[in-house]
Amino acid sequence: MKCKSRWIIAVALMLIVGILTVLILINFQPGPVQPFNADRAWQDVLAQMEMGPRTPGSEAHNQAVSYIHSELEKAGWKVEIQETERMGHPIRNIIAKRGSGSPWLIFGAHFDSRFVADNDPVIANQTLPVPGANDGASGVAVLLEMARVLPKNSDKQVWLVFFDAEDQGRIEGWDWILGSRAFSESLTGKPDAVVVVDMIGDADLNIYREKSSDKAITDSIWQTAAGLGYADNFINEEKYNILDDHLPFLELGIPAVDIIDFDYSYWHTLSDTQDHIWPQSLAVVGTTLLTWLEGDLGAK
Ligand SMILES: [Zn+2]
Repeated sequence: MKCKSRWIIAVALMLIVGILTVLILINFQPGPVQPFNADRAWQDVLAQMEMGPRTPGSEAHNQAVSYIHSELEKAGWKVEIQETERMGHPIRNIIAKRGSGSPWLIFGAHFDSRFVADNDPVIANQTLPVPGANDGASGVAVLLEMARVLPKNSDKQVWLVFFDAEDQGRIEGWDWILGSRAFSESLTGKPDAVVVVDMIGDADLNIYREKSSDKAITDSIWQTAAGLGYADNFINEEKYNILDDHLPFLELGIPAVDIIDFDYSYWHTLSDTQDHIWPQSLAVVGTTLLTWLEGDLGAK
């Protein structure tokens, strides 16, 4: 009897060790990227739109910070909020980090909405805030869904950064890209690439190569998109030179790219609402970036 129970214990121990070994191996395999879920990203757009315009200092802006923070934590990211100030205004950048390997990649999007819809055709609307479905909410939604589907055990170092106060230029006492300036100045070390997404929800998605962006990284992202069948969305021609959150990084000698569809007739108007953007456009951009991240990233 004694002998038999020892034998059972030995077999049970071997089984436990075997199961644990398999679990550990599974856990340390670089996991395949899950597909980008357009419906979930769309919910992120709707959640932000429900808050109202996320203008700096507003309750909606506070809610956006809490929402982004909590969605990132739910997805298992280490999150910090950089609290600083620029031109006398409080700035809060939300920074999510994962991994410690190489290359080091930063994806960024601004989460604030503009105080004034100064391009609105109706003069009375030009002092009202922009709803920011495309200009703000779309980029945040792409990054949040990427946060949910990126593998937890990547060999790369990935940061997702949600920039405050991008969109307040040409307003007295303000300037453009205050949040990304503050963030870039706080960096210790040099990331291998910074990829900014902004206004990428347009139902008619035409993303041209941005003129000031790093050419090699633009090439590799546009090639990835073409390989996925998105060449009509990622158009392999330069069109605009945009003042956006990628600039402070370029100024520091960090390769950076701006992914933006600037052919959007509702830009800085009260009509920048969810009925002018499309879940599938978020998926086109999100899938391209996830696939690019999985690949060899060009020369990197
Ligand atoms: Zn804007």
